[in-house]
Amino acid sequence: MRPEQRLAQRIVDMNGLEPPIDIRAIINEFADVEEAKLPANLDAILIRTASARLRPKIILNPSPHGNRQRFTLSHELAHLRLPWHIGTVWCHTDWANQVDEGIHLATEDEANWFAASLLMPPSWLRVIANTDVEIDEKFRSVLTADVSPQAAAISLFDVMPPGFAYAIVSSSSQTVIQAGKSRNTAVDKMWRNTTFSDAFYQGTSNRHFTIECGWACIHLWSFATSVEMPTFADGILSKNVLREIVTEVLRSQEQQSQAQKSISAITGAAFGEYEATSAKQLLSILGQKFIRRDGVVAMCAEHPRFPEYLARRADELFRKRL
Ligand SMILES: [Zn+2]
Repeated sequence: MRPEQRLAQRIVDMNGLEPPIDIRAIINEFADVEEAKLPANLDAILIRTASARLRPKIILNPSPHGNRQRFTLSHELAHLRLPWHIGTVWCHTDWANQVDEGIHLATEDEANWFAASLLMPPSWLRVIANTDVEIDEKFRSVLTADVSPQAAAISLFDVMPPGFAYAIVSSSSQTVIQAGKSRNTAVDKMWRNTTFSDAFYQGTSNRHFTIECGWACIHLWSFATSVEMPTFADGILSKNVLREIVTEVLRSQEQQSQAQKSISAITGAAFGEYEATSAKQLLSILGQKFIRRDGVVAMCAEHPRFPEYLARRADELFRKRL
């Protein structure tokens, strides 16, 4: 957990708070809040002077989304409570944009993680993540914290085990507003600002759920994270199986060696990138890496013996780690 998350959790624990957190009551202890139209898409300005006699003032941009204002107030509380956040600050609290575009203004990033962790305490989220229900039910539980779907998604998927992805899609334009996946999930996340397509995870996901929330639809997918692992006692190497596949599928030697190199590189990179804890899990990751490929790689991946190649390769790679 990040230090700012620990502080938020401590505030929750010390005050016996439970979601939905009454953030207005908490912020009123530390600052005056006023609403006024702010320029340049600012969500809030926190005005502080060096004088201890003057209470800090938060100027909050009016927003049609009450949950966005709740998040902004929680974000401002971070600036008030984290001792190294000082002075007057101008805040954009569009967390999703900042996470996606890797904008790392450290204090804003910290304030956002604090804000999320106060409204959705990590201990509370972990209970939800570990409850044995489907992902849509978990998501609905997180929304009871009165947070936006975007904030709910970033927070929940930060603690979910491998094998889950989401996309938040505008109901009016069908555009992907935000998308993501849990750690060590090998499928690609959906691309932002593209038109949503149901086909993106077709054939790869176990389950697909949707939650309608007026202006947006939340799509959730779960993927198999471990698949049946056959046992091989014949000593045949994966590279020999791959050699047979490429020779059958492709005519030119140049294409054959290109395919062989690409496929070995994809599997090798996936092994390095994801910390699989079993050969079965690694096999599932390797399988996910060959979804939506094109060219010679796709042609080979469609061969009936390709799953056997992947299983042998997963077995060999995993043994190397032991
Ligand atoms: Zn800020």
